[in-house]
Amino acid sequence: MSDARTAPFTDAECAAFNAYQNTHMFHPYTCGNDSTHRLLVCTTDGMTCPDCGYHQTWMHRFTAEFDEGSIPR
Ligand SMILES: [Zn+2]
Repeated sequence: MSDARTAPFTDAECAAFNAYQNTHMFHPYTCGNDSTHRLLVCTTDGMTCPDCGYHQTWMHRFTAEFDEGSIPR
């Protein structure tokens, strides 16, 4: 991934990621094992599937910089 952020993430990047996941306006990050699992949740060491423990350590840069307030409503 050329335009990606990799773990460890900052608290601000985790907050941006988790806000992005909850917008439902964009395709969220899902489990790499089973896309019907719940959405990945970010902590500073990466994003984890709550259902099976699938772990991912990168996110697109725009996700790390996501600002909920910037969405046109
Ligand atoms: Zn899973």
